[in-house]
Amino acid sequence: MIDSYVKAGKIVSKIRDDALKMIKDGTLVIDLVEYVENEIIKNDAGIAFPCNVSINEIAAHYTSPYADETKINAGDMVKLDLGAHIDGFIADSAITIIADGKNLDEKIDSDRLNRNEEIVEASAAALDAAIGTVKAGVEIGKIGEAVHEAISKYKLNPISNLSGHSLEQHNLHAGISIPNINNHDTTKLEEGQAIAIEPFATDGVGFVNDAPGTYIFSFMADKPFRMKQTQQVLNHIENNYPYLPFSGRWLTEKFKASRLQRSLKQLSDAMAIYPYHPLKEKAGCWVSQKEHTVIVESDGCMITTD
Ligand code: MN
Ligand code: MN
Repeated sequence: MIDSYVKAGKIVSKIRDDALKMIKDGTLVIDLVEYVENEIIKNDAGIAFPCNVSINEIAAHYTSPYADETKINAGDMVKLDLGAHIDGFIADSAITIIADGKNLDEKIDSDRLNRNEEIVEASAAALDAAIGTVKAGVEIGKIGEAVHEAISKYKLNPISNLSGHSLEQHNLHAGISIPNINNHDTTKLEEGQAIAIEPFATDGVGFVNDAPGTYIFSFMADKPFRMKQTQQVLNHIENNYPYLPFSGRWLTEKFKASRLQRSLKQLSDAMAIYPYHPLKEKAGCWVSQKEHTVIVESDGCMITTD
């Protein structure tokens, strides 16, 4: 089990670091997400969830739809969040960078650029601080406190309604939430637990709301549908993605994109599948994120995605 977590972690780290080089002015988001997802498969691992590329005020849950034309622009705050699994044991990691490009200094005010770099630094510092607190017996509210403190030093806010999570085999969000503020949760970490810690920092209010569009879903329940295609889509989802999130884009290999949208809407409305909406910072301010998966040890933790 630990071996599988470690192996998945190594794969995710390597792909993350390679994919970072693609984040620059003019890159199509779909090229980036497809690169990441294809590399996971090439490494004989499973895709734990669609590769997320969330830009600027979008904190999470954006992945390219079919034929996405979204481009990365110089100066954008780009969050790359990816996950792979070996036999269901998941590595989940994210990183944020400011997209490079020609004449970046001329395009964006240097004060703004420096502030954006600080937002990126803050989530990284918060992740380090959080990981520093992790060991068996620690109350999870204390991890959130460390995140909040580290981000406050930059006069920035954590996103209070986003959190990390425990991981179990084939289960990305396995029940325990790792907060980004001290929510006074006294649940204690246990040795051998796998958890993903993911601080988000912003110069906004530190709260996200659902934004329009749905690009990521997960299977919830088998239900009967009168429309033949909708039933076929649900059967395909249940057979291929029974536990882990999937992308609408993946389904276009089997179903026509033009008709898929309607089926996914019907399935979501009937709660046969769960729609993850993109999450947008409430004040429209930019957001950074950094995430590692760790295994809790008696006197610390092992980072699998370092
Ligand atoms: Mn993640
Ligand atoms: Mn995560």
